[in-house]
Amino acid sequence: MTQTVTRRQLFRSLAGQAALRRPPGAVDEARFMEICDGCGECIAACAAETGVLKADRGGAPVVDFASGHCVFCGACVRACGTGALTGAEGVEAGEVTFPWHMEISQERCMEFSGITCRLCESACEERAIRFRPMAGHVTRAWIEAQECSGCGECLPRCPNRAIAIIEKPRGGASRENAA
Ligand code: SF4
Ligand code: SF4
Ligand code: SF4
Repeated sequence: MTQTVTRRQLFRSLAGQAALRRPPGAVDEARFMEICDGCGECIAACAAETGVLKADRGGAPVVDFASGHCVFCGACVRACGTGALTGAEGVEAGEVTFPWHMEISQERCMEFSGITCRLCESACEERAIRFRPMAGHVTRAWIEAQECSGCGECLPRCPNRAIAIIEKPRGGASRENAA
């Protein structure tokens, strides 16, 4: 699939879209907008894996955890011919990463209200999700940030939207975005 998008169209496609999340290995957003031509090759490559990449209105790829999760296969990186997805260390070896991890909101987690759930737990191959019984027959759930790959598999499992995407600090505090 070939689709050419001008830089102006790409900027327009991004307007009003908060917290856009690009594929793993994406260069910084300003540079990305300069060099991604919206060809869709990465999206097609991901469709054969998990389908977590979708096109924004300008045809550029965004991560959509409602559609799937990332298995860090690197297919999107290898499919990109412009260099827009070569921003992560080790990316040539397919060792791609995301600049975020997940966090559980105690206010929204049903375990903290005394309701047995734990639907997220079995989704996590990294075993990054932890539970600890507390006084009052409630359970605190949390995600070990250092062990979370950001793959997104837990996100759609939560029936109460208790899991949020937290951007990793870049020389400052973490910034929370709604999942
Ligand atoms: S690394 Fe694989 S699963 Fe993840 S976004 Fe790229 S193609 Fe999709
Ligand atoms: S994003 Fe992936 S690694 Fe992180 S807690 Fe969820 S399932 Fe586990
Ligand atoms: S799936 Fe959601 S509500 Fe259930 S235990 Fe996990 S974070 Fe809590």
